[in-house]
Amino acid sequence: MQSTNFRFKALEKTLDRKPVPVKCPSDKISEYFGQNVFDKETMRRVLSADIYKALIMAIDKGAKIESHVADAVASAMKSWAISKGVTHYTHWFQPLTGATAEKHDSFFEPDVQGRHMEKFKGSALVQQEPDASSFPSGGLRNTFEARGYTAWDPTSPAFIMENGSGKTLCIPTIFVSYTGEALDYKTPLLKAMAFVDQAATDVCKSYFDEGVTQVKASLGIEQEYFLVDRALYRARPDLVLSGRTVFGHSSAKGQQLEDHYFGSIPTRVHNFMVDLEVESHKLGIPIRTRHNEVAPRQFECAPMFEEINLAVDHNQLLMDLMEKVAERHDLKVLLHEKPFAGINGSGKHNNWSLVTSTGKNLLSPSFKPEDKLQFLTFFINTIKAVHEHNGLLRASIASAGNDHRLGANEAPPAIVSVFIGSQLTKVLDDMENNASVEHNGDDNMFMQLGIDKIPPILLDNTDRNRTSPFAFTGNKFEFRAVGSSANSASSVTVLNTIMADQLNKFKKEVDALIANGDKKEVAIVNVLRRYIKESKDIRFEGNGYSEEWEKEAARRGLSNITNTAEALDEYLTDKSKNLFVSNNIYTEAELEARLEIMWEHYIMKVQIESRVMGDLALNHIIPATLRYQNELISALSDMKSLGLDYENTVGFQTVNEITHHLNIVKAKVHEMIEARKAANKVEDNRERAIMYKDIKEGFFDEIRYHVDKLEFLVDDAVWPLAKYRELLF
Ligand code: ADP
Ligand code: MG
Repeated sequence: MQSTNFRFKALEKTLDRKPVPVKCPSDKISEYFGQNVFDKETMRRVLSADIYKALIMAIDKGAKIESHVADAVASAMKSWAISKGVTHYTHWFQPLTGATAEKHDSFFEPDVQGRHMEKFKGSALVQQEPDASSFPSGGLRNTFEARGYTAWDPTSPAFIMENGSGKTLCIPTIFVSYTGEALDYKTPLLKAMAFVDQAATDVCKSYFDEGVTQVKASLGIEQEYFLVDRALYRARPDLVLSGRTVFGHSSAKGQQLEDHYFGSIPTRVHNFMVDLEVESHKLGIPIRTRHNEVAPRQFECAPMFEEINLAVDHNQLLMDLMEKVAERHDLKVLLHEKPFAGINGSGKHNNWSLVTSTGKNLLSPSFKPEDKLQFLTFFINTIKAVHEHNGLLRASIASAGNDHRLGANEAPPAIVSVFIGSQLTKVLDDMENNASVEHNGDDNMFMQLGIDKIPPILLDNTDRNRTSPFAFTGNKFEFRAVGSSANSASSVTVLNTIMADQLNKFKKEVDALIANGDKKEVAIVNVLRRYIKESKDIRFEGNGYSEEWEKEAARRGLSNITNTAEALDEYLTDKSKNLFVSNNIYTEAELEARLEIMWEHYIMKVQIESRVMGDLALNHIIPATLRYQNELISALSDMKSLGLDYENTVGFQTVNEITHHLNIVKAKVHEMIEARKAANKVEDNRERAIMYKDIKEGFFDEIRYHVDKLEFLVDDAVWPLAKYRELLF
């Protein structure tokens, strides 16, 4: 039988793979770290003192940038970039599609006299009108105004992207409609940063340290990913089109031995990692760690934490770099949350904290009793905020990809709970149960409350609960349920907003008690004690993956919605709207537009998966299986004509089993197509999203089950799709 089996061609290619050597620019990272970034150091060098000062005021304090300052910065930026071989520039932004967008313009501009000049004015730096018509707007631009523009974000430094032989100056920008509605991830994030800065500074200044002038949220993003051979990836249309394998029988060996986690990194992968680190370092991304993850072919990298806006930009850039660098090593990065069934999925752990202008980490328990109260204030307010808005946090990480990871097979449930470890649990229990503080405001109070017992370094820091979606890990909270391909801005915008809102409420309550004559510390402790009680239900120290927890969480009234279509509703509850609108993070119109976009995006993703399934089943699986079945049948008919007992053979059984599975696959694919047609007729995005969710839940697993059975029955030599063992080992 003649067939061009792409799978075997791909497998042959993988046999010749050699590690691609990587040359580091220097032995010392410090010699090239940030060489492609227009950072503060470079600015100080190339700008006049006045201009530099004005720009720093804008970066650190949000001061307005005058046009002569913008002109001077643009001119210096251009000279710096051209000296490094840059020919083009682009405003770099993060539309709601999840990727980053660029529109390249050349510095080169012939003028009216026919002279040729390289130009870049302040106005081009500060603002641009990309052709925004193809970016999602959730109907915003129709309702308001047809144009959108990008505007410079001076808090994130411009950088040079090297791509093949070209170099482009990228200027981080926000993306808003002409009437000012945000159409991107960065705009609300910047607002939420300012909000948490105001609220946290207010609390610090009023109760703990008058010297605090600013509080910044810090973020360290651990990025998990899979790496597979490029040729095998190309031999899987589902990976190419949907980012995950919609079919695939589990391999005889999976992750059960957990040998990958501690194993050494293969040389090819190691070289990819070194290469990625070099490219990241040139762009000022402080990547530090690299190691294997539990699943085969799964890896992780993490930069040092940075100020939140920069951390998000750097993560977006990192994902971009990963793709480009992998290509050089004939590898393909899979950022999908669940590329393989039966194998761990990938997340993006968001390590989050708050740091004061005086350099103190507000979530770090320290030695002095007063500092401990400050720590408890921020620690308990975070827990309270997460409790109050757990559904919203859940919504902030909702995506079609993450649906395969949260609340699906062999995955954590879609419940947001907080793990704090045994030591802090004891501290909070003691605080909650100790009533004497009401009468006693003296120095002994810290001791009475057991606050003095909080050790500066927590044992639980090492004894972590890996099943918790939101865990306190010593000096920061780690939001782990974020999807590996997500833009982190979505979740940390919510986190900053709920924290800021909570801190403002806390401040009001404490001030009221102080006005009533309570001593400051007593007032703080009493409010915190109430918060401990009120938010107890969000705390969970046990196995977050267990079925008992799901039941217990339901009793506690915690949100547990396993699909994006419905999880997103939380953005539009009165509570959430009030939170966002009253604090100027989103207008109501922006919120609604965002939801339209997210529902549409979800629909498209599920639709693509569903189409890929249909296509693979009808055009790849069924024909290959039929060819094999026909071979069996003709052998059986030979037997029959020779008068042999063909009915009691494996061949005969197999033919029947194949028929059984093929019939179901074919029937279900057709039913699924009809269901899609019905869904596509529905106008309303939310309603259509729910219908697509039903398609996913009603058909995907069943079709897959039968295709995977066929993979097990059909001769390996004719199976068209690269198998799990080939992709993963
Ligand atoms: P693990 O995988 O054990 O969770 P890693 O060292 O891989 O730990 O990742 C920890 C991440 O947390 C790093 O990105 C680190 O920079 C970040 N981090 C550490 N301290 C803070 C902090 N105060 N605020 C935000 N992120 C932090
Ligand atoms: Mg982690």
